[in-house]
Amino acid sequence: MYIVFIGPPGAGKGTQANRLVNLLQIPHLSTGEMLRAAVQAESPLGTSVKKFLDGGKLVSDKIIAKVVCERLESDCNNGCLFDGFPRTITQAESLDEFLNRKATPLDLVLELSVPDEVLKRRLSGRGRTDDGVATIENRIEEYKALTTPLFDYYRQRNLLRSVDGVGSQDEVFDRIKDLVDRVRGSAPAQGEPT
Ligand code: AMP
Repeated sequence: MYIVFIGPPGAGKGTQANRLVNLLQIPHLSTGEMLRAAVQAESPLGTSVKKFLDGGKLVSDKIIAKVVCERLESDCNNGCLFDGFPRTITQAESLDEFLNRKATPLDLVLELSVPDEVLKRRLSGRGRTDDGVATIENRIEEYKALTTPLFDYYRQRNLLRSVDGVGSQDEVFDRIKDLVDRVRGSAPAQGEPT
């Protein structure tokens, strides 16, 4: 399965993404992780993106497309979970193009949905230096500005499904599992006519 996982800061996306890739036994394609690893390794890619990561700015769509395309062709031939990607409509279009070329379109775009008030409470309890109230509000606003167009894009393609992210980690994961099962159950088997 190819799944895009989207969630605001503080929604618990990291934990749930890890559990989901373990369950489905698919690679976790986190562009943030890949870029951080490149910076750490001081590779040419790392050198070119370091200032964007340091400044919390988006890396260019062209660089991201290259990174994702290479990864898709390495260990993601039978599916993966996209985390932190796509972040722009251009990236979403590139992803469609890559997957259509492989004749393996996206199965699901999963939104982990948590009300702002709950996010603010959770984030301010984390005690990170970048978790001041104004910063938290900025991060939430930035997320909304960034993802709203993506939601529209995927809603139009009937791929967007929302999961209630409020509750214990197990409760939320059970909801995610149910959703994935439903999507798997309704997908036509490979090779069968649609
Ligand atoms: P993340 O761990 O997903 O929050 O990503 C950390 C940083 O990596 C971001 O602040 C961006 O600088 C960069 N980044 C990660 N994914 C993308 C993406 N899809 N498009 C552009 N920049 C990205």
